[in-house]
Order: sequence, then C-alpha cells, then structure tokens
Amino acid sequence: MNYYSLNNISPNVSFEEATIKGQAPDKGLYFPLTLPSLSDDFIANIKTKSKEEIGFEVMQPFVGESIPDTILKNIINETVNFDFPLVKVHKGVFALELFHGPTLAFKDVGARFMSRCLAYFNRNKNHHTTILVATSGDTGGAVANGFLDVEGVDVIILYPTKKVSTVQELQLTTLGKNIHAIEVDGNFDDCQLIVKQAFTDADLNTKFSLTSANSINVARWLPQQLYYFYAYQQWQHDEPPVISVPSGNFGNICAGMLAHVSGLPVKHFIAACNINDAVPEFLHTGEFQPKKTISTVSNAMDVGNPSNFIRMLELFHQQINELKNILSSYSVTDAATKATINEVFNQYNYILDPHGAVGYYALIEYLNNNNSSSGGIFLETAHPVKFPETVEISTGTKIEIPESIQYLFNQKKKSMLMNASFDDFKKWMINK
Ligand SMILES: *Cc1c(COP(=O)(O)O)cnc(C)c1O
Repeated sequence: MNYYSLNNISPNVSFEEATIKGQAPDKGLYFPLTLPSLSDDFIANIKTKSKEEIGFEVMQPFVGESIPDTILKNIINETVNFDFPLVKVHKGVFALELFHGPTLAFKDVGARFMSRCLAYFNRNKNHHTTILVATSGDTGGAVANGFLDVEGVDVIILYPTKKVSTVQELQLTTLGKNIHAIEVDGNFDDCQLIVKQAFTDADLNTKFSLTSANSINVARWLPQQLYYFYAYQQWQHDEPPVISVPSGNFGNICAGMLAHVSGLPVKHFIAACNINDAVPEFLHTGEFQPKKTISTVSNAMDVGNPSNFIRMLELFHQQINELKNILSSYSVTDAATKATINEVFNQYNYILDPHGAVGYYALIEYLNNNNSSSGGIFLETAHPVKFPETVEISTGTKIEIPESIQYLFNQKKKSMLMNASFDDFKKWMINK
C-alpha cells in the first residue's frame, strides 16, 4: 500500500516512510492510495474470529510490504492484548469501553501499534527518531507508555502545568528512561504551538529526526479502525448500529468511517463534539471555519481546527453531500455533559467520563430525532478516574482507583518546568 499527500505535491510513499515522516514534506496528511475492500465472507464470519485475527486481516493491506506478516501478527497481538467490551447501559444503548488498556485511554491502541512499527523500522539502529507531542492529558500517557523502552526512539511530551489530572500527570511523568516530560507554564495551545514551531525549525530538523505521535501519523490513525470491528462483532441486532464517537481531532471517527467504506456495516456515524464545533457547523453551513480552541470538561476534545477533518472528506471524494448521508454531528455544552453524567449514574448506575458523556448525549439526541429503533453504540474513550473532578461532582460519589494503576501513586514525578517559550524549548533540545 502506498500513501499520497493530501496536498498533492510530495511523492507517494510506503507505509514505512509515512510512519517515519508523520506528515508529508508538503505538510499534507498521508492518505491510502487505494481503500481495501473486505470480503462478504469476512463480515459474515466476523463473530467466529479472534480480535487478533481481525486485527491482522484489517491492518495487513495498509501495511503491505513494509512489515513481514509474522512480525505484523506479533505487533497486532501486543497492540490489542486487552478487552474492548460492549456494555449495555440501557435498552438500545451500549457503551463500547475503550479504556481497558494500560493507560485507561483509547489512544493506547494507536500508540502501541505505532511504537512497535517504529521499533521494527529502527531494527538496524541506523535511525534515531525523536517524537514530539503536545498533550491536553490523554495522548501523553498513552504515548509515554506505548514508547517506553522502544529502541531508537526518544519521546518528548509537553503538557500544560496544573491542567491535567493527577492520574494523567503521573502516567506521563513517572516513566523516565526514553520518555521526557516538559511541564509548560501555559495552556495546551501554548504546548501545541511550541511543537508546531519545532517541526518547522531548521536547526532542530537538522539535528533530530522529528516526528509526531498524534493521529496525523498513519500508524496511530489506522489501527483505530479495529474498535469498530470489535463493536460490530459484539452487536446482537440484524440492523447495523448507529455509532456515536466523542471527537476532537477526528482521527478516531475518521478511522471508523474508513472501516465502513471498506465494507463494515454501520447505519450512521455521529461526531459528538463539545462546544468546539467546527465540524457540526460545517455540516450545517457547508463552510469549514477553523476556530479558536475553547476549554471544556472534555478537554481531550478541545480542538478548534481538527486535523483529520480533511481525511474524512477525502473518504467521500471531498463531497459534503456524500459525507452528510453517513454523518451527523452535535455540539454538547459542559452543562449538558455534567447533567448527563449525573442522570446516567442515577438512572442506570453507569459512570460516564466527560468524553463518553458527550458521546452518549449525542447518540440519544440522534436516536430521538430519527425515530431510530435499532439502537446504537457510543464509544467510552477514557476511564472516569482520569477526570475525577467533573465526574465526582456530577455523580456525588468517589470513583475508585482501578487496581491496575494504583502503583502510579508510589512513583516519583520527573518533569522539567519551562516557560511557554519556543526559544527556551529549543535551547533545551539542543543542549540535551
Ligand atoms: C483523544 C481523545 C478523544 C478524541 O479523539 P479524536 O481522535 O482526536 O477525535 C476523545 N476522548 C478521549 C478521552 C481522548 O483522549
């Protein structure tokens, strides 16, 4: 499989090169040159397959010759070695819980897959990659965990001081080794700005081979398709599900739509957004207006200018009407998010995290507006313990810390406090 740049200037590249580069030299996102078409047989027999088999069959065409099949199988096995249960919340409404990975975030799958691919590409140790990520909380932990001890890779994570939760901060600052946490005296946008400047800085790019580990990178974006296959595998109705996806940078939902275009039955997609509503507005007006990011309680979705929006349109040949047939989008306020957490806890004894709550709210809105009887699925993208302030206030109960992360509280935080200044960051990088 080769990939082209959506800016159409840079040459096509293999999966390997797309993964190492992250973004094309013309600054375009890479996109698969052809979309695989799944056999009817595959879909008809999906319930009999293991998640590893599904993972391999779905991902192999995208990876192509870049990784031998035996190694790709191992990478997949390690990537999906936890559960993706579809849990009934109430009649017709199911949560696909994507928070059973090591950092309790759905980003674990993409981070684990990408890190193992890079480790394979660096196998002869003739290449050293430095990964730069800005995080509002969730990406950082998943990337840190996924890339820990991967040879030939250094990870530098920038996060806004005092703006991530305790669990999130521990997840990204306690690993050490090849993982470096920079605590920026500023907000998430400041972190992102420093990272963006670094990617275009001539000195840094001469000294380092820089790449990003966000969903711009095909190796992080594409494996997210698997959730939708696992959801369908557990779906018990004849009519395909409506799927609501809490969306920020639109990598996850775009991967779901890719799975659908390749043949996975899905009745309708819902992009569930907080008040950062560039996409809901686009579907409404037909004009895409990037916006300034607004802070919300579902902060992993605080994105004013979603990177993967352009990929989503490309899936539908840049035709908004084709896209609208399969996608609806809602914008949900913080007040509605908190009320939803409260209501779902009181009525159904299910604890939503703020992102899942946005997904749930948008799903119910769609089902009500469309008289849809088949029911639907919302993706629960993070464990509520990562957002204790909002969840505990909204439910009036304390959330128990899952055993799998209790060790974090005995670890020592190691971070480098820095002003929100690119020059300071550059100096630190150069002298590192
Ligand atoms: C990253 C993230 C999202 C948004 O996913 P995108 O692929 O950026 O749309 C939603 N929920 C949580 C918890 C996240 O960490």
